[in-house]
Amino acid sequence: MSLLITGGTGYIGSHTVVELLQGTDSQDLSKEIVIVDNLSNSSTKVLDRLEQITGKKVTFIEADICDEQALDKVFSEHNIEAVIHFAGLKAVGESAEIPLSYYQNNVSGTVSLLQVMTKHNVKNLVFSSSATVYGNNVSPLNETMPTSATNPYGQTKLMVEHILFDLAKSDPEWSIACLRYFNPIGAHQSGLIGENPNGIPNNLLPYVAQVAVGRLAQLQVFGDDYDTVDGTGVRDYIHVVDLAQGHVKALEALGHAKGTVKGCQAINLGTGNGTSVLEIVNTFKDISQADIPYKIVPRRAGDLATVYADAALAGSLLGWQANLDLTAMIEDTWRWQSENPNGF
Ligand code: NAD
Ligand code: UDP
Repeated sequence: MSLLITGGTGYIGSHTVVELLQGTDSQDLSKEIVIVDNLSNSSTKVLDRLEQITGKKVTFIEADICDEQALDKVFSEHNIEAVIHFAGLKAVGESAEIPLSYYQNNVSGTVSLLQVMTKHNVKNLVFSSSATVYGNNVSPLNETMPTSATNPYGQTKLMVEHILFDLAKSDPEWSIACLRYFNPIGAHQSGLIGENPNGIPNNLLPYVAQVAVGRLAQLQVFGDDYDTVDGTGVRDYIHVVDLAQGHVKALEALGHAKGTVKGCQAINLGTGNGTSVLEIVNTFKDISQADIPYKIVPRRAGDLATVYADAALAGSLLGWQANLDLTAMIEDTWRWQSENPNGF
């Protein structure tokens, strides 16, 4: 049997492939991993790194998820039993500039994938959603809260969630885990794979890491007048390896395996802890021993003061919890950044 990983050469996808290849006690290690990615935000160099880390090969197919014919060929040629769907565009600011590309890739692309899955009777899916669907709810955020979106990127995640809930209602054979990620950071402990953003990073950690390594001059801290521990924004940062292991657990809970995820189920993947921007900067400084100049600038439009998860459901439903602490997250980010100062 095979597992299809869309977006598998990207940041979270590549770390998940490592965890899948390294296996868990309950996992059948003979499964073929098939990655489909159009390389719009990743490189095939990741494939060599995956082999270096795991000693195993994956099957890579360069294709766009919007191309139903290409997907149909993948399903015809491989005995796919479940899909982990990471492929998509993810930059909030860019999504307001080119919304149609976001709706095309994230929504239409997902519908194409679901059409082909239906045709081939593959009804087990893990989907990359985001804590952004919680809109302005007050933390800790739990899966029963009402959802909303404030930008086109968030809308695409919310629309796909609605599609998945409707699909599961229409056909009880579907088993779907909609994983709502909080803020993934860190890198694999080997230093061989990590986050590799194109251009100037939008997210805090890659920005701080590039300041520490001397690629960027100064961090801008977006606001120090929030009602938080030190006035700067608080987020629930989660190590990408913990997140990757959450996908393995989610896969094991789908209908083709244990069957504990019935229909479509939203599940938070976070630590349940909040960390401020200045706590991140200070921890990064201690670990890297690098200078991290920053200046306080006005709040970024649309940012909330505090966002963190209620992570209880992932514990009870999947038997998963985050294990790696902030020190590990930042040590691993620093190892990746300092050993690969210009990415791949
Ligand atoms: P990433 O950009 O590193 O990985 C996404 C991968 O999908 C890339 O390799 C890209 O080339 C590929 N891709 C994009 N559009 C495609 C298409 N139409 N067809 C085929 N491949 C395509 O991003 P990531 O951080 O690994 O995120 C993975 C998923 O998780 C995304 O759906 C993202 O929205 C979601 N997510 C990410 C975060 C985060 O902070 N990183 C948070 C919440 C949710
Ligand atoms: N942030 C910052 N400077 C930056 C990028 C981010 O001060 O250059 C802050 C941002 O205001 C938020 C936190 O860091 O409080 C995390 O932002 P990020 O964009 O990484 O993730 P978000 O939670 O917004 O998706």
